[in-house]
Amino acid sequence: MPVGRDGQATEPRSPGPLPQAEGSGGLSPARAAAGEVPPRPSRLAYLSLGSNLGNREGNLAEAVRRLAGTSGVEVRRVSSVYETAPVGGPPQGDFLNLAVEVVTTLSPRELLATCQRIEADLGRKRSVRWGPRTIDLDLLLYEGVTSADPELTLPHPRLLERQFVLLPLAEIAPDLVLPDGRTAAQASRMDRHSSRGQKRARPRFRG
Ligand code: AMP
Repeated sequence: MPVGRDGQATEPRSPGPLPQAEGSGGLSPARAAAGEVPPRPSRLAYLSLGSNLGNREGNLAEAVRRLAGTSGVEVRRVSSVYETAPVGGPPQGDFLNLAVEVVTTLSPRELLATCQRIEADLGRKRSVRWGPRTIDLDLLLYEGVTSADPELTLPHPRLLERQFVLLPLAEIAPDLVLPDGRTAAQASRMDRHSSRGQKRARPRFRG
């Protein structure tokens, strides 16, 4: 069951369109005129992490640690680690993958920038598309936001095609409603027999 902004369980829901601009952000005109800054809303978001170079488990654990250490990001759930064969790209080693649920006051773009900074800090070089990588962080879903911008497409355009995304996501958010109306649990069960994904151990991380 997904968790709402107040920490209460909520009904499964699909991400909706971009929220409307809220003028003064909910402050009274007098408070807005006085220069008061409204608190930024907290949103749920889901990320997919993968690594197939170097110390793969260590890379995942370090990326989660850095996410958890980012101001405005609270890591709520981390899936087990799944070992999966690479999809597309040149011949390369198997990936370790996991999914993370965060509650964040960062905007979608700020959260993407955080992911890209962590990738750069952990030594990822963008050379071959779909080639081996120290660490890859993808933003899968951001509560209440859809976007067709190629720089940040939400929900992630390949979310439903990838068993290595769906399996860990279903573990931490089985009732999450995906763009095609299925829950994460239903979508991951559909492909289970064709999956080469194998569940492995949970990495240690400091949350
Ligand atoms: P990749 O090499 O697979 O990590 O893809 C990174 C590129 O995809 C970057 O240029 C991002 O701006 C873009 N992108 C678009 N939507 C997303 C998303 N939801 N999560 C992560 N990267 C995205």
